[in-house]
Amino acid sequence: MPEWYGPYGGAYVPETLVPALEELATAWTEARRDPGFRREFQRLAHDWGGRPTPLYFAENLSRELGGAQVYLKREDLLHGGAHKFNNALGQGLLARRLGKTRLIAETGAGQHGVATAMVGAKLSLETIVYMGTVDMERQKPNVLRMRLLGATVRPVDQGTRTLKDAINEALRDWITNVRSTHYLLGSAVGPHPFPSMVADFQSVIGREILRQSRALWGGPPDVTIACVGGGSNAIGTFHPLLRTRTQLVGVEAGGDGRRGSLGAASLGRGRPGVLHGMRTYLLQDREGQILPTESVAPGLDYAGVGPEHARLHDSGRVRYTTASDREALRAFHRLARTEGILPALESSHAVAEAIRLAPTLPKTQRIVVTLSGRGDKDLEEVERRGVPR
Ligand SMILES: *Cc1c(COP(=O)(O)O)cnc(C)c1O
Repeated sequence: MPEWYGPYGGAYVPETLVPALEELATAWTEARRDPGFRREFQRLAHDWGGRPTPLYFAENLSRELGGAQVYLKREDLLHGGAHKFNNALGQGLLARRLGKTRLIAETGAGQHGVATAMVGAKLSLETIVYMGTVDMERQKPNVLRMRLLGATVRPVDQGTRTLKDAINEALRDWITNVRSTHYLLGSAVGPHPFPSMVADFQSVIGREILRQSRALWGGPPDVTIACVGGGSNAIGTFHPLLRTRTQLVGVEAGGDGRRGSLGAASLGRGRPGVLHGMRTYLLQDREGQILPTESVAPGLDYAGVGPEHARLHDSGRVRYTTASDREALRAFHRLARTEGILPALESSHAVAEAIRLAPTLPKTQRIVVTLSGRGDKDLEEVERRGVPR
């Protein structure tokens, strides 16, 4: 389990958290070798979560695009409506193994908060979710879901009142309550061992893609695309495919596309620095202050990115690009009308890249897009914005 990805990663945390991180790393190393733990994880992922998720041929969309064949990895069909379930379940079981009684989490889109609240209910752990007030406003259905699942949602009114500030508050809580509490971090970010542990839990996505694509056409995809916020659905998709010949593409949020707009493209428009316990690419000013981000997709609205993506970016093994708010919204409507699927606005960024790419490739090529979540949470926002030209 690597702590460093080249110069990225590490564990830049106050001393009070060091024992908890070490305890977690040890517990995880033991648990992943324990057949009992793995059996329990697989049983719940299967019967409660709905794994494996299908690899679905988007026939109508592919025909319209007139190039490569587009397949969707349907994480939107997972319990809770997003890939977040994989990681929340894994860490929840680990927290129980460590004898913790309390889960805390941060959430942006609310999907991770919902996944944590589901796991908290199932494993009888008290659950507290920190959420920026801006995100609470634009993701109301998920706030309601968390509360109905028995979690406490704590509004965060600091800073930009989005994901970054929710993480700060969760870290503060963890420092105070570290003995009783597990911090169930929602993406492949933060101090070691979170990035590699979360990548492990999410790698079920890529393992299934590889198995399913081999069964469907006898090899890996020609191109594999995933959206990148903190980078957990993307790293889970990419990990098992790194050693195959598939081209990997990560799509960051391009924002409103106005000149000088940063969106939330930490890899495309940021530079290395330290935030939330890790060294990675960040959107920051000359003094190292974190810059405000903006995206139509709250789950992508984060100034940092997982440290493994920073290394994959530098090495060139993965190509990182952006899709703008407008492109994502258009992709949302296109998938809705061609395939009868309402994707999450985060996932719509990955779909937008497939829409750009497919017509440039021959019909014999296959593109797999990880559809990280479903769009029910975004309906109000989509309606408010209308159909962009
Ligand atoms: C949270 C979320 C994301 C972004 O998080 P990653 O860690 O980058 O995967 C993407 N899609 C959906 C549906 C989400 O809920």
